[in-house]
Amino acid sequence: MEFNSLCAKDLEKSFRYSPHNMPIYQTSAFEFETHDESVSVFNGDQKGFSYSRYNNPTTESVAEKIAALETHGIDIEAYAYLTNSGMSAITAIVNSLCSQGDIILTQNTLYGGTIELFQKPIMRSGIETIFTDFSSLENIRKIISENPKIKLVYIESPTNPTLEIVDLKGITDLAKQYNIFTVTDNTLNTPYLLQPFKFGIDFIIHSTTKYLSGHGHSTGGVVVGKDKSFKKILWENIKLLGLNPSPFDSWLLYNGLKTLALRMKEQCTNAEIITRFLEEHQKVKRVNSLYLKSFRHAPLVQKQYKNGYGALLSFEIAAESNRISHFFNNLKFCKIVPTLGDLDTILLHPATSSHLKVDKEIREKNGINDNLIRISVGIEDVNDIINDLKNALSWV
Ligand SMILES: *Cc1c(COP(=O)(O)O)cnc(C)c1O
Repeated sequence: MEFNSLCAKDLEKSFRYSPHNMPIYQTSAFEFETHDESVSVFNGDQKGFSYSRYNNPTTESVAEKIAALETHGIDIEAYAYLTNSGMSAITAIVNSLCSQGDIILTQNTLYGGTIELFQKPIMRSGIETIFTDFSSLENIRKIISENPKIKLVYIESPTNPTLEIVDLKGITDLAKQYNIFTVTDNTLNTPYLLQPFKFGIDFIIHSTTKYLSGHGHSTGGVVVGKDKSFKKILWENIKLLGLNPSPFDSWLLYNGLKTLALRMKEQCTNAEIITRFLEEHQKVKRVNSLYLKSFRHAPLVQKQYKNGYGALLSFEIAAESNRISHFFNNLKFCKIVPTLGDLDTILLHPATSSHLKVDKEIREKNGINDNLIRISVGIEDVNDIINDLKNALSWV
């Protein structure tokens, strides 16, 4: 018997069946019935799949779900492409909007990897980045008016791990006056909490590795856009730079997305309770949290968020910084893990991990001192998390 003679597709022809969950199309390429079909799929006359780096049914259907989430309840249409990491989503959009000689304007306080991406590979390709303070629109206007080569404003809100909020509408209004594109990293919010298109943002990226996938078992990214004229170049860049995800990772993301709302709800509830606990603890000097009653960006939070304020917090321990290790080493329930957005509660010491490569002076100026601890709150029983933090804090 010939190896290929009985395939799932033959079964599909012999009787009807329909998988309730989306199958993983774990194939690098697709067959054509006829030469004519091959010709028309390749020249674009007919929609079809040919090669998985170009497009894959599992990947495409998940991308469409994310586009739907980002536009839910808003009267616009969007498209999305998945990539194999958050970094490759940023690479894809920057490459689609900017070319040699253009300038990116962004914040001092980006995700560490994004700072390095802008300072290293993107810089080497002739695209420069200006890092500045985004808390003042006047400051942004001044820089934009002095630098006509600024092509793109890149935003992260809230900042990680100090949780500063950026005025999305204020910045997009300003950028539009100068015909500058806006891109925002919506990883920490997810569309369940914040939909950047409502505030005029042009493109959204996510590291799906975090909350969208939510279980800490896949690495991925997504770019969401609404201006159709950039659809082709974005797809072409992902295809030619090889930024596409594996069908398996897309499928893990598909499963994760099903519980996005449930997870976020629980994580936000827990994050608010943990904020109250930390605020009142005598060993805690300062808490960074959108749930603080006295939060300095409260009006922006009210304006931009729905359903909750996220589940990332950070706090400063009131002790000598050499006591930090006693805190971490006495955690029993929560774990030390350098990621965020998983189902379980995980902590990290930014100064010696995510921000290790950032100059100490710059780091401290941005509120990331040696006593700062970041906590990504999970879905566990909140009393288990609090008891663990209480015990670990008693050791500092
Ligand atoms: C993790 C993260 C990234 C990078 O994503 P990867 O999936 O690790 O490539 C970008 N932005 C933010 C806010 C992140 O948390």
